Amino acid sequence: MMEIIERLKVKGITLTPQRIAIVEFLGKSVAHPTVEDIHKAIKRKYPTMSMATVYSTLRLLKELGEIQELSIMKRGKACFDPNPKLHHHFLCRKCGKILDMDVDCPIIKKGWVSGCRVEEAQAYLYGVCSECLKKEQSAKE
Ligand code: ZN
Ligand code: MN
Repeated sequence: MMEIIERLKVKGITLTPQRIAIVEFLGKSVAHPTVEDIHKAIKRKYPTMSMATVYSTLRLLKELGEIQELSIMKRGKACFDPNPKLHHHFLCRKCGKILDMDVDCPIIKKGWVSGCRVEEAQAYLYGVCSECLKKEQSAKE
């Protein structure tokens, strides 16, 4: 994550303590946080942190290609991914968690499909996550 901070410095981006806190939080997060999630977590340390600051920092990081905004919705809200590389996601219908799917989907690939040129392919899978399945199972026993 410090690499991002270095890259931002090189690009001449002003790094306020709030911006650094957002970058650091994103670096640690594996849960694809929403703007609200990020705001809530950072407000503990920076009580004056506004939603507008979180929004503008996320927009900046997205424009710089450091993070991506997922079009899959978490509790109806857009969520952010500190991994800017294209990868697939799984949404648990029970707990709402969004997990990375490190699978290579052979059907979903760049190339030609029905006469259309596919330039980007990102899959969203839906179902029940392993943790929720375990809970379901132990409730039955
Ligand atoms: Zn789940
Ligand atoms: Mn991801």
